[in-house]
Amino acid sequence: MNNEILEIINKLRTNHSLELMEYKMLIDNISPEISEHLAMLAVKEQQRIYSNKIYIRGLIEISNICKNDCLYCGIRKSNKNCMRYRLLPNEILECCERGYKLGFRTFVLQGGEDGYFTDEVLCKLITEIKSKYPDCAITLSLGERSYESYKALKEAGADRYLLRHETATKEHYEKLHPENMFYEERNRCLKDLKSLGYQVGCGFMVGSPYQTSLELARDLKFIEEFSPDMCGIGPFIPQKDTPFGKEAAGTLELTCYLLSILRLIKPNLLLPSTTALGTISPNGRERGILAGANVVMPNLSPMSAREKYTLYDNKSYLGAESAQCVKELAEKMNSIGYEIVTDRGDIKK
Ligand code: SAM
Repeated sequence: MNNEILEIINKLRTNHSLELMEYKMLIDNISPEISEHLAMLAVKEQQRIYSNKIYIRGLIEISNICKNDCLYCGIRKSNKNCMRYRLLPNEILECCERGYKLGFRTFVLQGGEDGYFTDEVLCKLITEIKSKYPDCAITLSLGERSYESYKALKEAGADRYLLRHETATKEHYEKLHPENMFYEERNRCLKDLKSLGYQVGCGFMVGSPYQTSLELARDLKFIEEFSPDMCGIGPFIPQKDTPFGKEAAGTLELTCYLLSILRLIKPNLLLPSTTALGTISPNGRERGILAGANVVMPNLSPMSAREKYTLYDNKSYLGAESAQCVKELAEKMNSIGYEIVTDRGDIKK
């Protein structure tokens, strides 16, 4: 291995910080040998903090109705081929009930920016989930909202919020989003969420159109500085009815490489091995864990909804991606030396 790269890796291990151009160099020099070395170091850190425990979250995709038109996303409002659905509060509560019995102690309510889910509707729902399952955490992933809205949802009992920053480069953000979506606004949301005391998750797609190693290096630097509690990264996968329908997908190798780097930037980070990773490769989820991830989020949504939450083509939602198959997931994790646990799975400080 090249000495300069080894020095950069050693610096990352000890300082948990690199210069922008060092991150870029690390990315530009990706090779199977360096990936293996980084994964070994990342897993050591993950095991030091979380031992061989994998946290599970029950993902409930509450609506695919969205007012936004993100160019990469299959549920963008202009996609006329997307069959729209919305789960009503009683259906969401049924998902929680099923999930609780299966051992889930975190529910992630994710969806498009659907006007039906006002603060009033959400606060009532969150209060109800919390009163039924006081030992559970609620994660929201419902896009950009006002400070007042985030505050009300927090006061109702929400614990965590996932909002991917998507890219830490303003010009790149503008190529991935329509004119009425702003890089500054996304950042405002992330800062507000942090100031309100949420456990906050940001993240980005690997291999999104126009992304180069410089954009990725800026993403890593952004994460180092913002220091989120969670970070969701997964490969970009084209969805045929979007403007990026013919673009190439991101790779398993680069995603795993970046997962390892993220683990070294922030050793206690809650780092999911995402559905997108499980979609591009049959053992993608396991590969993510072996690169340093420590969270999986199987799908708890009703089957009819899952078929319609088509962010990208061939999205997997069966087998170990399905919350109903926790046993299968547990076996898969056991086979690589890990164990899933019934736990809220908060970040270890
Ligand atoms: N509306 C919420 C938001 O914007 O945060 C939550 C739902 S949004 C669909 C969740 C994430 O899916 C996005 O942050 C994006 O990174 C990811 N996503 C969307 N389209 C994708 C694609 N084609 N490939 C991979 N990931 C995608």
